[in-house]
Amino acid sequence: MDMPDILLEIEREVRPHFGRGKVASYIPGLKRVPPDKFGMVVRMVDGGEYGVGQFTEPFSIQSISKLPMLMLAMSMMGEEIWRFVGKEPSGSAFNSLVQLEYEKGVPRNPFVNAGALVVLDAVMANTQGKASQVMLDYLRVLSQNFAIDYDRKVAASELRTGHRNAAIANLLRAHGRIRQAPDTLLEAYCLQCSLEMSCLDLARALLPLANSGVSPLLEEAVLTDRQTRRINALMMTCGMYDSVGSFAFRVGLPAKSGVGGGIVAVVPRHCCLVVWSPELDRSGNSLVGTAALELFARMTKLSIL
Ligand code: GLN
Repeated sequence: MDMPDILLEIEREVRPHFGRGKVASYIPGLKRVPPDKFGMVVRMVDGGEYGVGQFTEPFSIQSISKLPMLMLAMSMMGEEIWRFVGKEPSGSAFNSLVQLEYEKGVPRNPFVNAGALVVLDAVMANTQGKASQVMLDYLRVLSQNFAIDYDRKVAASELRTGHRNAAIANLLRAHGRIRQAPDTLLEAYCLQCSLEMSCLDLARALLPLANSGVSPLLEEAVLTDRQTRRINALMMTCGMYDSVGSFAFRVGLPAKSGVGGGIVAVVPRHCCLVVWSPELDRSGNSLVGTAALELFARMTKLSIL
């Protein structure tokens, strides 16, 4: 089967999974998204690009934004970033507070919310507070779509209701782990998470992760090979929160999810895959998206395991 047929087959086979998950409602701005959306893109490092369903429709990338912010932090600070954040899976929810208190405010990894706040704080310190604009410009260039933007309504609705993230930011500050004031950091974090991109935009922008750090679109390195391998290792062990083990079991690829229903997965040296479907499982990962990636790995044998 060739790639367009594989994608059509996946779109057909995931249909029975609709209605089994729940659209994120704890961020008021996300509840209105129709639950039955589905889009998927496969972008090969050698140029092939295949999409199915609503793959050009922008959605809220939420925690997927933790990836480009980490890419920026690593290219700005190199190894220095690991003084602020760990590299171990957390085994707990993405917004858990308990572990952070036990471990004296050092977040387990850059993909739990506490870790993403610390990474953002570092990028803010390196950009005179302009991290949101820097990330937007970075992704516009990498995706070659200069129309992508933040959804300020979604950001404002999360800022109003994100009491748990506010607690995390305050705990980080109490432990002396961040330099920004918690309110400033939270505002920038909610904006970062509210970015809207399509499956196609994300696949193009994050393709360097499948290509040793080089963007095939720009013919330019945005990360070193070593940095790229490290990010992929973190995605493999921490990218799907407390269901990272079952995701590895089912799919076997480094991946990063967001509560907007997007998942980015990387097949090193082959392709970047992006799937979007808003209904989530209990860990906050796209239920239909995970099923689609499992089918993809099974049908193409493009899995690292
Ligand atoms: N903005 C969301 C939050 O902090 C992102 C979480 C996610 O996508 N997993 O709760």
